Parts: sequence; structure tokens; C-alpha cells
Amino acid sequence: MDINELRKEAHLSASGVSDYRDCSLLYKFGRVQKIPIEVTSDALILGASVHYVLAEFYQEILIGRKMTAKELTVLFTKSWKQLAFKKKNIEYSEGKDYNTILLTGKELLLTYHTSIPEEEYTILSIEEPFSFTIEGVPVPIIGVYDLVIEDSAGVVTIIDHKTTSRAYSVDEVDKNFQLSVYHLGAKRTDFSDREIYLRFDCLIKTKKPKFEQYYSIRSKEDDIRTIRIIQQVWDGISKGVFIPNTSSWKCNYCFYKDACDEWFQKTEIENLKMEESTV
Ligand code: SF4
Repeated sequence: MDINELRKEAHLSASGVSDYRDCSLLYKFGRVQKIPIEVTSDALILGASVHYVLAEFYQEILIGRKMTAKELTVLFTKSWKQLAFKKKNIEYSEGKDYNTILLTGKELLLTYHTSIPEEEYTILSIEEPFSFTIEGVPVPIIGVYDLVIEDSAGVVTIIDHKTTSRAYSVDEVDKNFQLSVYHLGAKRTDFSDREIYLRFDCLIKTKKPKFEQYYSIRSKEDDIRTIRIIQQVWDGISKGVFIPNTSSWKCNYCFYKDACDEWFQKTEIENLKMEESTV
């Protein structure tokens, strides 16, 4: 399965459904009208570079070799350079620039290397795309598992690597929609009869970087709730319901601020025209 091929066809994803729930106008700009993003955040590029390095780290483990901390930082430097120069429109947060992010990435990966527990497991997949369907939604739900491992008792753990600015609460992880979709996908495809753990491996960008692992599980009832949410979101999308949520936490980081302003201005002009025509 090739994720780029899957993305060419109509689909939903955990991030798409979350975007729709946070601000459906944002969803429309990015995923219906496919307006190119105005800016990219430094956090996104840093996250993508760290993801790439960790995928390589586990590819090496798969062939029986653990990369050194130095190798991780060298690989990160290469990836960060490539991505940062390719994406011209990076918006750096206050006090950050190319070099500070380079340093942050290296520190995060050194922290990862010293903190990741030595455990016995078998790697089942790295960066593996998935696709599944649910009742009442005619398009597949797609995504990529960062890492899937299995322990000696046959328990499967689906791991997502995160670079975050703060630690998560247990409640946040237990209600996390991305993990819920991963569980549903796993139950509907390769791991229907298996016990499944979900795990966030978080590199936290505090002054002194930290590494935290958060485990979670989902029940059959949780799966049903996930299905209901996806069905409702699909219903809204298919009926063309796209409502701006101006109090969304996403407004501060929105890639479509100009498009959003334009949308409101157009709406105001249309309303004025309607008022004039009814006077
Ligand atoms: S700025 Fe806020 S309301 Fe506008 S599209 Fe972005 S998230 Fe939605």
C-alpha cells in the first residue's frame, strides 16, 4: 500500500476528521478546495524531520543494529537542512530560527537515544499505511502507523511518535481521536483478533527535553463512538456544511488566515448586497 496513491483518491483520515471537528471551514480550505498553505510552522518541519530519523532508527533495529546517538543527530541535521531549504515559507515562532530548531532537534534525539527503554519486541511494521472502511461512509479511512511492535505474549502495540511542547494528561491520551482511529483500523484489518495497546512516544520540547511514553487502550464501545463521529463528519462534508470556528485553538496556528479573512469579507459583501436589494 502506498500512502501517496491512497491520498489521490477521496478519503478521510484521523487528522482530517479532527480538522473538521475543530473548524470545518479550515477543513474545506485544505481538503476540499486544496488551497496551498500560506505558511508552514517550524514545529511541523521539526516533527517531520524527527519522524524521518526515528523511522531510519527502527529500520536499522530491524536488521539488528542500534544506531548511535551521533548517527541520529547527523541524520537529523541532513533532514532538517533539506526540509528547511525546500520549504521557503516556514514561519518561525518567537525567538526561533533555523539554528535554534536545529539544536532543539539534536537535543530531542539525544534524549530519545538515552531514554528509550531496552525491551524485547518484534517489529511488525515501520511507517506502514492502512486503509479501512466503515458502514455509511463511502470513502476509506486512511493513515500511516509510525511503528507497530509485538511482544512475546503476542500483544500488538501501535506507536505514534510525537514532538510536543508539553506533557499529555492521561485523559487526553485516553480520549485522543488519532489513537482511536488507529485502534479501529487495526481491529478492522490485520489485528482483528489481537490484543492491542496504543502508545504515544513523546519528545517534549521543554528547556531540558524530556521523553515520555503514554499507553492507552480502546474498548468495543470506544470503537462504536469513533465510528459514529466519522459517520457524522462524513454527513457534514457530503452535505457541504463548513462552518468557521473562530474560537478554535487552531486559529492561532491556522495556515489559512488570509483565506479565512477573505471568506468573511465576501460573506459581509454578499450580506450587504442582499440588504440593499431588499430595501
Ligand atoms: S482562522 Fe480559525 S476560523 Fe478561520 S479557517 Fe482558520 S481555524 Fe477556522
